[in-house]
Amino acid sequence: AVKERGKSGYRWYAENMDAQAVEHARMGAELQRALVRGELFPLYQPVVTLPDGDVHGVETLVRWRHPERGMISPAEFIPVAERNGMIVQIGAWVLRQACLQMVEWQRLYGTAAPMRVAVNVSARQLLEPSFAQTVADVLAETGLHPGDLLVEITETAVFDGGPALETVQALQALGVAIALDDFGTGHSSLGLLRTCPVDILKVDKLFVDGVAGTAEEAAIATSIAQIAQALRLGAVAEGVETPAQARRLYQLGYRLAQGFLFARPLPPEEVGVLLAARAAGRGTGSAEPPALA
Ligand code: C2E
Ligand code: MG
Ligand code: MG
Ligand code: MG
Repeated sequence: AVKERGKSGYRWYAENMDAQAVEHARMGAELQRALVRGELFPLYQPVVTLPDGDVHGVETLVRWRHPERGMISPAEFIPVAERNGMIVQIGAWVLRQACLQMVEWQRLYGTAAPMRVAVNVSARQLLEPSFAQTVADVLAETGLHPGDLLVEITETAVFDGGPALETVQALQALGVAIALDDFGTGHSSLGLLRTCPVDILKVDKLFVDGVAGTAEEAAIATSIAQIAQALRLGAVAEGVETPAQARRLYQLGYRLAQGFLFARPLPPEEVGVLLAARAAGRGTGSAEPPALA
């Protein structure tokens, strides 16, 4: 980092931009190797039903364990992968891992397996003409039922229509479910809900944070619940951290939630522990303690 300011603010800015560009180029090159060296791995965060906190689905969230720099957040390396195109390969790999994992859980836990596995898909992937075929191939190869896969896209990716929207339509034709992620933070347009096939709205943490507060603080989450109900869409509240938020979300009509209150993103073995308990609970008829009690 440039510690001392150059002769002009511009120069300081330019040097910083150079440093950032160099860092991104380095990270981009390392990402190429990360995939083949097995440094990337998926975690799975449970999506739970309200009010009982039972596992409904899981969202696949990729991680990078860098040999020197330790864990790198996807918020850092996914944008780099989007810029250098590596997201196409990384995304296809994550998708395949998620489908293989889901089939394995279905084999091990039957009806106690999650209902759905969600995978995040970048705009860059939707713009690949072959993406829908990649999804079809992975489903065929792994044997996962298309309806058991949920693809999470952002409003911004499909806002302009065009090829990205066509890809989403092709995914829907395959029977794959579609979620609008971080709903309300992008190029929000209610018109989008007519043109783009959508099954689920994922309400961004930004609107969940204040949901237990005043009516004003809860206003966006309240409105999104009403939109979802009117259009018969599912709604998932993201980033739920407190019981007060979960209670209020339930009152507002939310029946699905995700957040550290219920579970963090977990390695597959830890999800397996939850599923085994779920399968056993079904056998004996005993219920999980209510999460909102
Ligand atoms: P996202 O899809 O909106 O995922 C939700 C993020 O919120 C995850 O961050 C998750 O760990 C975090 N989160 C969940 N519950 C809570 C909570 O209660 N409190 C807080 N503070 N955070 C919570 P993560 O895993 O760091 O991922 C960040 C973003 O990176 C994701 O946001 C997604 O946009 C992107 N991403 C992750 N994996 C992939 C991937 O395989 N492909 C693509 N294209 N993007 C990915
Ligand atoms: Mg997501
Ligand atoms: Mg999100
Ligand atoms: Mg996000």
